[in-house]
Amino acid sequence: MSVSYTELVPTPPRTAMNTGFSPARHSTMLNTLGVPCPRRTNCSPVTNARLRAITSTRDVGPFRVTGINPALDSLQKVFSDVQSAFPGLYDLLGTAGMSCCRAVRGNPNFFSNHSWGTAIDLTVGGILAPLDAARIPHGLLLVYPFFHRHGWFWAAGYNGRTDPMHFEVANETILQWQQNGLLA
Ligand SMILES: [Zn+2]
Repeated sequence: MSVSYTELVPTPPRTAMNTGFSPARHSTMLNTLGVPCPRRTNCSPVTNARLRAITSTRDVGPFRVTGINPALDSLQKVFSDVQSAFPGLYDLLGTAGMSCCRAVRGNPNFFSNHSWGTAIDLTVGGILAPLDAARIPHGLLLVYPFFHRHGWFWAAGYNGRTDPMHFEVANETILQWQQNGLLA
């Protein structure tokens, strides 16, 4: 059964995913959490004191990652759901990183959403799905509904270059968390 999780399958069309959610906007992130670090091309330490105060490194199930606390709480729920539904897939999940404060590649005026610790790159059986991949590991398709349930946006649905290994806290969820006082 676990064999099929790494099998490459066609990436679904962007209209088939992320219903009700949009990518976290740069303005939303700056307004809710502030400038995270000096804008450089490589990962640099987070210098924003308020952001640092709500950032932790934690075991979220399949691995340890660094991010903001509500995102880590949410990931624990996502992966707990995945473990119940697809234990064999859960065992294959890895990460290519969460918190990394840097500019968007090719767009130096914008911070990557990894800068605030609200985005995570996932691997399945060690496989990295490249940008604009037409085929992706089946496991990514299977974990997507659990991220969606908990308010994350799957970047396989980005307009422009798609990024199927990347999940980020949706714009709507960031605003909800702010309203609930979770970003203070
Ligand atoms: Zn990413």
